[in-house]
Amino acid sequence: MEATQTLVKPIQLPSDQDSSGRTLGEAELKLLAEAINSGTLTSTKGNFVKALENQFAEMLGVKYAYACSSGSGAIHTAIAAIDPEPGDEIITTSITDMGALTPILYQGAIPVFADVDPTTWNVTAESIKACLSDRTKAIIVTHLFGNPCNMTEIVELAASRNIPIIEDCAQSFLAEHNGKKVGAIGSIGCFSLQQGKHITTGEGGIVTTNDDAFARRMFLFINKAWGYGDPQPDHYFLALNGRMCELQGAVAVAQLSKLTEIVQSRQVAAEKLTAKLQGLDGIVTPTIDSRNTHVYWKYCLSVDSQKIADGAVGLAKNLKAKGIFSAPRYIQKPAFMCEIFQKQRTFGNSRFPFTLARPEAVDYATDRFTGTYSGLEAVLVLPWNERYTDEHINYIAEAILEAVEQLKK
Ligand SMILES: *Cc1c(COP(=O)(O)O)cnc(C)c1O
Repeated sequence: MEATQTLVKPIQLPSDQDSSGRTLGEAELKLLAEAINSGTLTSTKGNFVKALENQFAEMLGVKYAYACSSGSGAIHTAIAAIDPEPGDEIITTSITDMGALTPILYQGAIPVFADVDPTTWNVTAESIKACLSDRTKAIIVTHLFGNPCNMTEIVELAASRNIPIIEDCAQSFLAEHNGKKVGAIGSIGCFSLQQGKHITTGEGGIVTTNDDAFARRMFLFINKAWGYGDPQPDHYFLALNGRMCELQGAVAVAQLSKLTEIVQSRQVAAEKLTAKLQGLDGIVTPTIDSRNTHVYWKYCLSVDSQKIADGAVGLAKNLKAKGIFSAPRYIQKPAFMCEIFQKQRTFGNSRFPFTLARPEAVDYATDRFTGTYSGLEAVLVLPWNERYTDEHINYIAEAILEAVEQLKK
């Protein structure tokens, strides 16, 4: 059925793509002016990026945090710290941002995709276990949409094989599993400060660790592997300039002071929406393990196409007519279906490092990814924001209730 008429009156929702849904303001401007007036814009000499790193490490309760140029750069730095041999395997997830995947290939390693739990869209100890081999060098978990993976079981599995875990926390600032903040549970945590994350500097990233040796390599990798402060510094290994500059550092310090409030505000709003949608036939509100706190980068519904005409796609269309722009299927297709993996387009025509891969490691057969396909088919990603008021929540809830009524089979 087409949503030709709608009772809810569309209102403009705050957006994380402009000032309506961002927390950028006086505090950022003040520190930015300080940075500019200081005349020192490089973090190798300035104080803002160092302050950000110190405050971030303290917030997470880890020994080390290093800022870098992006979330992709943070993942790249983490992998470089682990230093895989060409052809080593790194287990990752089939539903994530491409920036979490391409760094694996840049470091000569093979991404091995684990399936996900279709109710949380996260990898599990079980799906990771199915991907382990004697060439597994690391595991990357993405805490998708702000909802942590079940880390107790994943840490147990990884520890039993002595494999480091990289946590991709780009969407999950301050999320917790069992009272521990993500980014401080595995061996290395990676964060993004891109425009659409909880806090932003436009582009930017942060890596965290408690491990002295990983920390040393991460610092070096961000700095062209130049041994700043060493008695006889040299460029020790292959690395680029991945630094954050002081302009971003100044904005980041101001943004970081707002993070707790941003997260709480998103949580309160999400809980209100969940209460309003409780028991609605055909949709499932976020599934959260009792040990987890969800920080709602996005608010995702699981839509049952047996009950809702055209499932998540149908619901998205209907909501669009009501002025709500949601994303059915999130990344559209599993990450391994992108050309980079399907055609193995890497360095010239070499296909390196795929040339070194075990056939099983690059077997993307549909039946190995049942959770991924069913999860992507059902997911509807609603934009989420710390500026949502009760009026916004009521509007979203009414729109969904009306849409479900119009679309029910
Ligand atoms: C945004 C994001 C990244 C990449 O971060 P950029 O700053 O855009 O490079 C990586 N992983 C996940 C899960 C993300 O959401």
